[in-house]
Amino acid sequence: MDEKVKGLILCISGPSGVGKDTIINELLKVRMGMLHSVSMTTRPPRGEERHGVDYLFTDKATFEAMIASGEILEHDTYLDHYYGTPAKPILEMSEEGTDVILDITIKGAHEVVAKLPDAITIFLMPPSIRSLEQRLRMRGTDPDDKIEERLEQAMLEIMEAPKFDYIIVNERIPDTIETILAIYAAEQHRAKRLTDIAAKITSGQWK
Ligand code: 5GP
Repeated sequence: MDEKVKGLILCISGPSGVGKDTIINELLKVRMGMLHSVSMTTRPPRGEERHGVDYLFTDKATFEAMIASGEILEHDTYLDHYYGTPAKPILEMSEEGTDVILDITIKGAHEVVAKLPDAITIFLMPPSIRSLEQRLRMRGTDPDDKIEERLEQAMLEIMEAPKFDYIIVNERIPDTIETILAIYAAEQHRAKRLTDIAAKITSGQWK
């Protein structure tokens, strides 16, 4: 009887340009055991993005076939493209005890929680809409009309933040990382995640 404690599933949402990629990359550096779930999308690659690393880039027909066959845990459309989490890798990683981090839309985060109620949802909030616009323009990967679309979408998304487990205003990267690590530590110690610990400790089967 060597049941492992399941890995944590951490859903990070927030408007485009809030800095999710940066935060996730920094987190992966300090929490080496944590893995990023590589999403599938029908959006074309942007800048230096690589297939299999940043996204699994695919076409609409393949994506829809995967939804129909249940291979996608959750999915959403964002600015006319599909985005989704392949089910198998995330379920396997969590079962093995690996912590998984997801960069995900709001609807996607809610869908994950509906299927995996122990998943943790964190909303990254920009300090202001102006700072968000500056970041999107500095990123230089979207034309003006796409930036306008992303900002309109951001307003709608921000209104949904109270439905998340946690909200973090992403002002300074080190502060945000520290807060996420504090949340992570607390969640790891939730008694409901460690229901078997007393029996395992007393029988010498822990670890
Ligand atoms: P971007 O085009 O900027 O890479 O991503 C657009 C939006 O899609 C972001 O809000 C990002 O969090 C979200 N996203 C990326 N991967 C997934 C996914 O697997 N599922 C869902 N629901 N949203 C995703």
